[in-house]
Amino acid sequence: MRILLVAPPGAGKGTQGALIATHFDVPHIATGDLLRDHVARRTPLGLAVQDCLDRGELVSDEIVLNIVRDEVEKAKREGRGYVLDGMPRNMTQARAIYQIARTLDMTAQVVLHLVADDDELVRRLLARAALEHRTDDTEEVVRRRLAIYHDVTHPIVDWYDQRGILVAVDAMQPVDRVARQILTALEAMRPLVNLVPESARQSIDLTGLGKAFGNH
Ligand code: ADP
Repeated sequence: MRILLVAPPGAGKGTQGALIATHFDVPHIATGDLLRDHVARRTPLGLAVQDCLDRGELVSDEIVLNIVRDEVEKAKREGRGYVLDGMPRNMTQARAIYQIARTLDMTAQVVLHLVADDDELVRRLLARAALEHRTDDTEEVVRRRLAIYHDVTHPIVDWYDQRGILVAVDAMQPVDRVARQILTALEAMRPLVNLVPESARQSIDLTGLGKAFGNH
């Protein structure tokens, strides 16, 4: 399977991305992790992006696209799919990664959108800040990351929705419930994604499930 994850900070992208990757035995390509790894190793790239990460700003499209291109090429060589987490984050990246993937015959088959309220996201991120030591989990930077998500990342969701490849899940539910809904949807879709052309597909909105079962 080839899956993109689009979600605001704190929605559980990293957790769900890792679970999906394990379940489908595909690489988990998480741009934030890859960038933080460069920072930790103090590579030239890491030193160049550190300030952006600390401030919660997006790093340049060119840098992330180069990193992701390498990872998708590697997945292609290994004959595997991918879970791409953290990219695309704006319309330029969305178009660019689509072109890159097309030339490799590796375009995403499903785009997962994790949906959550800002208040809950801020609460989760600040709780995480007490446990982990991510330099971008201070309240000011968290609010900046959320604002960027709403301004430039969320608009790409409509593009995928119109293409009929979007699956929206309520990420306010407990982690295991979110994971079950994602994996069930993906397993049901797995045999179809290569047979049904995008033009004949329809997006799926599962965000009512949480409320329907009183899980909030
Ligand atoms: P979160 O979604 O919680 O903000 P990530 O680990 O996905 O966490 O991203 C952390 C930071 O890494 C972002 O705030 C940004 O600075 C940088 N980053 C990650 N992916 C991208 C991307 N596709 N384009 C630009 N910057 C990115």
